Amino acid sequence: MAEAEVGDDVYGDDPTVKALEAATAELLGKDDAVYMPSGTMTNQVGIRTHTQPGDAALYDHQAHVYQLEGGASAAISGVLPRLLPGVRGIFSPADVESAFGRDHRFVPSAVAPPVRLLCLENTHNAGGGSVWPLDTLTAVAGAGRARGLALHLDGARLWHATVATGVAEAAYAAPFDSVSVCFSKALGAPVGSCLAGSHALVARARRFKQQFGGGFRQAGIIAAGALHALRHHRERLHETHANARRFAEGLAAMPGIALDLATVETNIVRFQLTHVAASAFVDEAHRRGVHMLPSGSDGVRAVFYLDIAPQDVDDALTVVDRTLAALARSPPEGA
Ligand SMILES: *Cc1c(COP(=O)(O)O)cnc(C)c1O
Repeated sequence: MAEAEVGDDVYGDDPTVKALEAATAELLGKDDAVYMPSGTMTNQVGIRTHTQPGDAALYDHQAHVYQLEGGASAAISGVLPRLLPGVRGIFSPADVESAFGRDHRFVPSAVAPPVRLLCLENTHNAGGGSVWPLDTLTAVAGAGRARGLALHLDGARLWHATVATGVAEAAYAAPFDSVSVCFSKALGAPVGSCLAGSHALVARARRFKQQFGGGFRQAGIIAAGALHALRHHRERLHETHANARRFAEGLAAMPGIALDLATVETNIVRFQLTHVAASAFVDEAHRRGVHMLPSGSDGVRAVFYLDIAPQDVDDALTVVDRTLAALARSPPEGA
């Protein structure tokens, strides 16, 4: 990164950014890609690129684009979300169809907000890193296409789906008009995401990237980290999956924890606490050196990335065990 060759990204002449964009487009089987500072920006620029204010978009009810991006698609693009009832983020062609309603043909076209866009997320964050089966993904995308929808894939964690199944990133990306991928999660780069698609889509996206304030000048410094991660770290991601499984198996054997091992598919472990509140548990574990996130009153999310070694996993299990014991001895007020 310190030796990265840089130019000015706003003028499209930063050679390291351009190399990253070309490598990402090639990997995803698309014409072109555009580098931006965050996965939220690549998703939201993608959504903006496909829609006009007042359009509706179909999202899973737990989608990152819906729940965790600050309400951006409503605030910035004026998009009306229509939520689909996914299970761990995965829904069916019938769910897509149901969003149109039986009596749709009786509604004058000027009255109903037009549904323009369908978004999928693979792997699914709130679903615990769940992987879309390729045939389900293809069928759902086909249902959207049959309704004339644009298709966007939030592939922030797409690498993990590939590691888990052996299905290439480009095969998952194939049905979609736009795909966003993230270099700064388990992959180990400090900053950034790419949005990939056709030449025309990426040209339009570059305009909105600038409009959203995402033109970032000598970005080659951080693009170099992303390019290194893309070239050298995808092949190591299986380590994060093995560590997640090792942690999950340790947790599943502990009293006070409910965890279905079948839900641990990639690098995310979601579990429930049966006797203590998630907030007290997470605070105490944090104090003892293990950082996890609470979700709801009794749920916890643990995520594994490249710098975590198997020995760290065993240490983390010891911390969880001691945390549960400490909370059992002195339950926090209100518990
Ligand atoms: C992290 C994540 C994002 C957003 O990435 P940021 O870089 O944090 O904005 C989008 N989608 C999914 C599924 C994610 O896990």
